[in-house]
Amino acid sequence: MGRLDGQVAIVTGSSKGIGKAIAIELALEGASVTINYKSDTAGAEETLAQIRATGGKAIAIAADVGSNEEAKTLVEKTIAEFGKLDILINNAGITRDKSFKNMNEQMWLEVINANLNSLYYCTHSALQYMLNQKHGHIVSISSVIGQAGGFGQVNYSATKAAILGFTRSLALETAKSGITVNAICPGFIATEMVAAVPEDRLDLIKARIPMGRLGKSEEVARAVVFLCADADYITGQEININGGIHMG
Ligand code: NAP
Repeated sequence: MGRLDGQVAIVTGSSKGIGKAIAIELALEGASVTINYKSDTAGAEETLAQIRATGGKAIAIAADVGSNEEAKTLVEKTIAEFGKLDILINNAGITRDKSFKNMNEQMWLEVINANLNSLYYCTHSALQYMLNQKHGHIVSISSVIGQAGGFGQVNYSATKAAILGFTRSLALETAKSGITVNAICPGFIATEMVAAVPEDRLDLIKARIPMGRLGKSEEVARAVVFLCADADYITGQEININGGIHMG
């Protein structure tokens, strides 16, 4: 018996990294999972294969969650396939780092669209089903950079801070409808996103982490499972998973 038997989940951006680990952990607990991705079909197929190899149920859907139409289709196809939707994990995200004075409008807009507008698109589509069934869990992946700021990351930091306001406000609106809305703030997790950080900067970052190492995607995924399986009285919160680099 899994803790999420019979539940249906969408994990945006689960072809790799943190999203992939979340999809796998949710499926291991018995949830049927929609793996979403934008362009990495091979990565999504790998996530799918790993879930199916352990007897889990999953499908993969390519959809740009920065498009309202595609996000709607993602939700509709999931419901058509599995019959309902209980869990939405807003995980997809990108970086376009540059000092603000050199950040062009495209770098700003791309990050706002992929990291923030996607929350409106996916959550707005999913919420109507959750409100009707009076049950649901929404977890969005913010970042320590949204709490503490990040050099060269004004665009990214702005979206990640906005996710926290989104989470608290939506939690207020849905609290009486059996729907929890929470955010997770990872610190520095070993994924392709962090691999893009120059090695000398990464060494400086590691030296600032009290635990002295990067986090693992699975360490974030286990907190997502907790919020979806064991936390009916937790809503509007942010959970820090950061090896102690930011406390508060
Ligand atoms: P990653 O390895 O770069 O993976 C990003 C995932 O998002 C991929 O599956 C990618 O799919 C998908 N994606 C990006 N844009 C998309 C779009 N418009 N539509 C659909 N899917 C899209 O990143 P990660 O490190 O796992 O990060 C996952 C989340 O955690 C992000 O929100 C990130 O900001 C947050 N986070 C990460 C860290 C960290 O240290 N890694 C720390 C704090 C927060 P394709 O490859 O197909 O485009």
